[in-house]
Amino acid sequence: MLKVELLFITPNAEKIIELAGRTAYQSFHKIREGSEREFVRMLRKSGHHSVLEHAYATFRISGISRACSHQLVRHRLCSFTQKSQRYVDEREFSYVIPPSIEKDSRAKEIFKELMEKSRETYRKLKEIGIKAEDARYVLPNATETEIVLTANFRELRHIISLRKNNSAQWEIRNLAEEMLKILKDHAPSVFEDL
Ligand SMILES: Cc1cc2nc3c(=O)[nH]c(=O)nc-3n(C[C@H](O)[C@H](O)[C@H](O)COP(=O)(O)OP(=O)(O)OC[C@H]3O[C@@H](n4cnc5c(N)ncnc54)[C@H](O)[C@@H]3O)c2cc1C
Repeated sequence: MLKVELLFITPNAEKIIELAGRTAYQSFHKIREGSEREFVRMLRKSGHHSVLEHAYATFRISGISRACSHQLVRHRLCSFTQKSQRYVDEREFSYVIPPSIEKDSRAKEIFKELMEKSRETYRKLKEIGIKAEDARYVLPNATETEIVLTANFRELRHIISLRKNNSAQWEIRNLAEEMLKILKDHAPSVFEDL
């Protein structure tokens, strides 16, 4: 099951963005308690998004499929660390069942048959001495993974606007929605429009 955990976020992120952004306008005299929200909104609306790069967040994401993580790692401005299928044994791998298959009993049966077959084949290969790095070739795209992602706010906005969109695939869309909820709590002025 999808789990999105915030490991780190720039403390006082909106204030940091304001402190950096006011350098451009030399308007430090306008800084006061609460002034960051309006300032960040102005930056966002004007498209001055490079200033948002001064704040970062790190998420631990688990319970997603390798099909989903493969889409996620296409975002080149993030840093990633992912559970390795070379170093971690996958004999008991968990897997994600897409909702369209979950709700169709015949489809679910066919799907689960293959998952069992994959597990069995993986185990047999390991038993005869094949290393995990090669046995993993029989693992399905549905295999659950865990990944840590770090990105700045500008890139997080980009990922969320692409992946929360209706044209995005359901699993990465769910992930983008969970990330957005957390980010909106911590830095509403940066993410409230998404
Ligand atoms: C609905 C949907 C369908 C997709 N279908 C496919 C598909 O069928 N096949 C496929 O291969 N991929 C597909 N993708 C993935 C897509 O092509 C991108 O690889 C992915 O969304 C990462 O986006 P990005 O490159 O904008 O973002 P990031 O890598 O996160 O980069 C952020 C931004 O930085 C800039 N940037 C980064 N690197 C460069 C660079 N080298 N040169 C210039 N500017 C750069 C760009 O402005 C970019 O938008 C799909 C994505 C979506 C959302």
